[in-house]
Amino acid sequence: MPEQPRSRRQTRAAILTHLLQSGGSFRPPLAKAVRLSEASLSRILFDLKAEGLIEEVRRPAPYVGGPTGLVSLDGSVALAALELNSQWLTLGVGSLSGEMHYTERLPLPKKPAMETVGRLFHEALGLLRDWTRRRRITLAQIGITIPGLGRLSEFGNPIIPCDVEQIGDMVAELFADVPVAFTNSVVAHATFHRCRTEDYPFSDAHLFVFVGQGVAGTWMGDPIEEDALQPVELGHMVFGTGGPRCRCGHHGCVEAYTSLPALAELLRVGEAELLQLGSEWVTTIPLTSRMRQELHQRLFRLGLAIGNTLNVKPCRGVVVSGWPSLLSEADRKAVIDGIDACLLGGRTLAQVSLAFVPPSTGNDPQAALAFAAFCLASRGGMPAASTEAA
Ligand SMILES: [Zn+2]
Repeated sequence: MPEQPRSRRQTRAAILTHLLQSGGSFRPPLAKAVRLSEASLSRILFDLKAEGLIEEVRRPAPYVGGPTGLVSLDGSVALAALELNSQWLTLGVGSLSGEMHYTERLPLPKKPAMETVGRLFHEALGLLRDWTRRRRITLAQIGITIPGLGRLSEFGNPIIPCDVEQIGDMVAELFADVPVAFTNSVVAHATFHRCRTEDYPFSDAHLFVFVGQGVAGTWMGDPIEEDALQPVELGHMVFGTGGPRCRCGHHGCVEAYTSLPALAELLRVGEAELLQLGSEWVTTIPLTSRMRQELHQRLFRLGLAIGNTLNVKPCRGVVVSGWPSLLSEADRKAVIDGIDACLLGGRTLAQVSLAFVPPSTGNDPQAALAFAAFCLASRGGMPAASTEAA
């Protein structure tokens, strides 16, 4: 099938997202990766450099034909990140490559309400404005992540009560010309892994599944397309109406069996204690054989949920991040068995490969920063409102 012609925005997006995900590239492999002649690439790089989005260092290439320029994203582009979780609102300013220049953490009240969360955002945005103003820094993008931000209505039903529209208005008031994008935490963590994990397992379309406070996924598509990141609510697949109650109000959702709170209950530890142990829990908390059996059953259900998702929308790759990634290969096999048990034709016939990546929680606002970087790169570094024909 002949390829669709790309618009100028898409060609620039292909270059910038490739640089974001690779961390930098010499010209010949970059031209190949984004399917451009070196002459065409040269013209676009000239523009991107003039706009301060990329930089190029003359460096001997590690192959015949060097020296050439090592192209990377410009380190002086400043992005702002705000990441909300059940404990804090963390704000920060950082670079396209993930370097943090400033972070501040504001604690959430014990029982957050729409109003108090709104005030917290107001305080955070004020700090951000003061910090950037003092240093005469102009932000290129603001990325904001909110747990459970829904896909059904743009601003629907977050897990922590907050009025996203109102927060959007505050941003518009304080940072009039800066593009702002909201997403849910899982989409942001998926973006973080794709942009910052060395040797990330997939470069083409795949499903990213995160198992933490909740269970959710993201379809990771072609970064130059509008629908490059799409939330998938696979955590609320119901496995028996007599099962444990889920925070969504239903009973027996896969999330009610496999989220961190459910895991804490199974391990008979407090959720806070489990969070504090982080990845250490695997070696610190002893499992009875009954616990392990139950754990395998739950992981099997997680596998079923993933397999069912792939039955609906097939794709070749799945990345699982979160607590299951910390388990031994023998324990994780239950996830694979679950996928095999429901995926039509099984995993081998469907040619699905599965990779586990470590959880990325506790590093906020790195996920929001990666999301901001992705937003800027995927719109080709062009103004947010710019619309153009292909
Ligand atoms: Zn549910």
